[in-house]
Amino acid sequence: MNYIIMDLEWNNTYCKKKKGFMNEIIEVGAVKLSSDLKVVDTFSVFIKAQLGKKLHARVKELTNITNDDISTGTPFSQAMAKFRKWVGNEENIILTWGDTDIRVMIENFRYFNGISFIPFLSNYVNLQKYAQAFMNISKAEQIGLAAAAEKLGLSPERYTLHRALDDSRLTADLFKRIFNKQMLDSYTLVCDTSFYSKITFKPKAIVDINSPLIDKSKMKCLCDVCGASCERISDWRLTNQSFRAIFLCKKCKRKIRFTIRFKEYYDRIDIKSSSVPFIEKKEIKNIVAVESSGNSSEEQE
Ligand SMILES: [Zn+2]
Repeated sequence: MNYIIMDLEWNNTYCKKKKGFMNEIIEVGAVKLSSDLKVVDTFSVFIKAQLGKKLHARVKELTNITNDDISTGTPFSQAMAKFRKWVGNEENIILTWGDTDIRVMIENFRYFNGISFIPFLSNYVNLQKYAQAFMNISKAEQIGLAAAAEKLGLSPERYTLHRALDDSRLTADLFKRIFNKQMLDSYTLVCDTSFYSKITFKPKAIVDINSPLIDKSKMKCLCDVCGASCERISDWRLTNQSFRAIFLCKKCKRKIRFTIRFKEYYDRIDIKSSSVPFIEKKEIKNIVAVESSGNSSEEQE
């Protein structure tokens, strides 16, 4: 059993055939660890750019990769054949920091090789997700590689960051510090068809109010003062991918602006709603007029 820690560098470039932007891989780096976490071998290759012949200034600055490097590199298909051979036939788990690299690699395989899977990927761990759980960092925070390394007492400045092999080395050293076989098992995903459907699914807000995915029973507003069910007194309007309407609490004679957003994920619909007191524009003007005509009562107290 080997652990393959992989990192990619890519260049976001316009693709005529796709009529849109795509992340073209320009470098692959990897470290192979044995089951007792010893470095067995390392891998590094520049990929010859076929879509974006020129690197973004930001990529050049970040990575120190030159236009020369990517024009003399190995074409994607050949580089991947080489990498596959290096990965070998032994059972393995591939680990990356965050799952973006895997999504980018699937996109490149689809574009350059015409297949929608990664031939050498059978087990996968999103190491960022694992590390956050191991280090008790909330999911909302999304810690970067360098910050996580620092927290674990590593010195990220000793590695050339944003280069594929050095990032892999740093990730491998970090992995050794937080290794727990049992916990890792629970974060290991078998790369079957549902893995690919899930990882390539793009979450999107539901903007059609008649969509069957919308749970209409959630489009109700309760008064935040008395808890009564409010009556909708305006049409639903779509703003910022959310539905919005004005509600009235008959008991409190209060108007409430209620906003709700439905977002579709691979296996769930995420619902977020909020309500704020609704003040009409002419009422706001009146309040401002009253406030500016009198002294603040807080000052007098
Ligand atoms: Zn009320």
